[in-house]
Amino acid sequence: DKKMDAEVTIIGAGVIGLAVSAALPGCKKPVFVIERNHTLGQETSSRNSEVVHSGIHYPNGSLKGKLCLEGKEKIYDYCIKNDIFYRKCGKLIVTTKTEEEQKLLEILKRSRINGVTDGRIIERDEIAEIEPYVKATRALYFPTSGIIDSHSLMKQLEADSVIGGSQMVYGAEVVGIKKIKDGYRVDLIDADKEKFDFSTKKIVNAAGLEAGKIAGYLGINDPDYRVYYWKGEYFGVGNGKNKYVNGLIYPVPEPNTVGLGIHTTID
Ligand SMILES: Cc1cc2nc3c(=O)[nH]c(=O)nc-3n(C[C@H](O)[C@H](O)[C@H](O)COP(=O)(O)OP(=O)(O)OC[C@H]3O[C@@H](n4cnc5c(N)ncnc54)[C@H](O)[C@@H]3O)c2cc1C
Repeated sequence: DKKMDAEVTIIGAGVIGLAVSAALPGCKKPVFVIERNHTLGQETSSRNSEVVHSGIHYPNGSLKGKLCLEGKEKIYDYCIKNDIFYRKCGKLIVTTKTEEEQKLLEILKRSRINGVTDGRIIERDEIAEIEPYVKATRALYFPTSGIIDSHSLMKQLEADSVIGGSQMVYGAEVVGIKKIKDGYRVDLIDADKEKFDFSTKKIVNAAGLEAGKIAGYLGINDPDYRVYYWKGEYFGVGNGKNKYVNGLIYPVPEPNTVGLGIHTTID
């Protein structure tokens, strides 16, 4: 459509918005990535554990489980291709009481149905080789889980986006969206509080914690499409004590909780 300023507008330059824009090269019209902060990844994408998850906890047959499995391979390949730091440090889910061991078998079963093939139950002697300072009765071990440098990942995705023709617009907040013929009119406010607008054929809502608000601008009020907030706290281990942990260590998830429990990650 000749009248449209942009083919696709991606709202949000977190890891999701950047990954989408990097995957959209060669659009005839520009792809805009609109980000309210002065640069990429200033919100949830720079406040997480940087773990490449294996896809074990998601419901069997779910899209999330399928994408997690595919994404894990792709993200490691992307890291190798672009020289981004990653480490397959492995992940242990440990039991401290024998009563919890049945739960390990259930997680193992679910992970296998999800297509995660590298998980196995290990005993005390092998746990001691992997994590000498962990006291556990048994553990479920996923050797291909790992960590990545999420900042380098986002910078590379941004570079690929720009090479592919995307235009990064930082310091501009989407404050309204109107449906127009064959597309949308997007209202922005920049860092100097100046207002401007443009038209776009398609919108990708990658606004993270604000995704519900953006959906609201588009008139999407589906109760299945709302944000559930989930907060984590991080505590650093210093004074050389970080040497006591080699990889990712998780407890067996407690019943009736949504989180993964208090766990270690390495930086
Ligand atoms: C404590 C914690 C630990 C986690 N650990 C892991 C982990 O180990 N491994 C893992 O894979 N995932 C982890 N996650 C999840 C992961 O961090 C998120 O799924 C991911 O960062 C979401 O990226 P995003 O791009 O959707 O959102 P965000 O990073 O929040 O990006 C959204 C962007 O949209 C912008 N934006 C919002 N509204 C507007 C607007 N109106 N106009 C313009 N821009 C706007 C924001 O400024 C922001 O930059 C964790 C999450 C938490 C909270």
